Amino acid sequence: MNTTSDHTTALALFSGGLDSILACRVVAEQGIIVKAIKFVTPFFDYDLLADEENYRKKIYKKFKIDVVLKDISEAYLELLRNPPHGFGKHFNPCIDCKIMMISEARKMMAEYDASFLITGEVVGQRPMSQRKDTLRVIERDSETDDILLRPLCAKSQKPTKAEIDGLIDRENLPSFSGRSRTPQIELAAKFGITDYPAPAGGCVLADPILSKRLKKLFNEEEEIKVEDIRFLLVGRQFKLPNGGWLTLGRDQKENDLVAALKQPGDILLKMPTRPGPTALLRYSDHPEDIQLGASLVVRYGRKVKDGPAESEVLVTKNQSVSSLEASPAIDEQFTSLIR
Ligand code: SF4
Repeated sequence: MNTTSDHTTALALFSGGLDSILACRVVAEQGIIVKAIKFVTPFFDYDLLADEENYRKKIYKKFKIDVVLKDISEAYLELLRNPPHGFGKHFNPCIDCKIMMISEARKMMAEYDASFLITGEVVGQRPMSQRKDTLRVIERDSETDDILLRPLCAKSQKPTKAEIDGLIDRENLPSFSGRSRTPQIELAAKFGITDYPAPAGGCVLADPILSKRLKKLFNEEEEIKVEDIRFLLVGRQFKLPNGGWLTLGRDQKENDLVAALKQPGDILLKMPTRPGPTALLRYSDHPEDIQLGASLVVRYGRKVKDGPAESEVLVTKNQSVSSLEASPAIDEQFTSLIR
């Protein structure tokens, strides 16, 4: 336990959802300094890394919670190869995901001089990862048996060290269980919190469509990088005959995202005179892949009434720009290439 200062610090796992917000607030109410950790991977919340300061300010302003980001992408990519507790309905290794995050938080305790950990888990709320027996497994495998406090349902759990040592009064904690959100919403209102994200969502591993794409990638490729995942989650995706990965933005927002993903060696394809997708080609500079990529850009671009079907397409690789003429791809050319 922390004996070096007058204050006790706890580290909280912070998803940004209402339960994690409330877990932080009810513990802070008892005079504990709560430092929230938000773990990020390319499967959830990765974009926050682009402006951590802004995110921290926003969360403090809205919820009075001091949060830091922690990138666990590399370890997470490894975990997805073979999660010991398996997957949920999609490609979501929820139990091992929790175990990994709680273990990481445990390792960060010394850095923050923290005495215990907090999560917003509520017994019985989620089918896979929040059953009573699963909560036990998570504590055991993250080696946090007596230091992991779940303040929203602590009364239904055995007392942790923080409660036994009198740092936390469990009688003043809420007693949530099951799937109903009403008690959480009522407690949030007492804290003056009304603007919080809807439950679930945000993790692409649990998304029925994107998770299939990711699972296929893990089955096909031996080495996967963070940039590969970022690429795969944006736009209309194709795997081209010479090994090229191609993505096409489906609207202006995705076009901007696609362009922002460009890495050295990637090829950007775009029509200079017609509105249409921005495309990014990776892992191939084979002329056939470039030509097919350009044809797909024309295929999904805006048609010109009574004008030619073909169009000029600019091809940008590193600093060099060239151009080629491309006809719109026909369905038989690409339906089997859709990812
Ligand atoms: S939904 Fe995603 S982020 Fe949440 S526990 Fe499961 S794998 Fe982890």
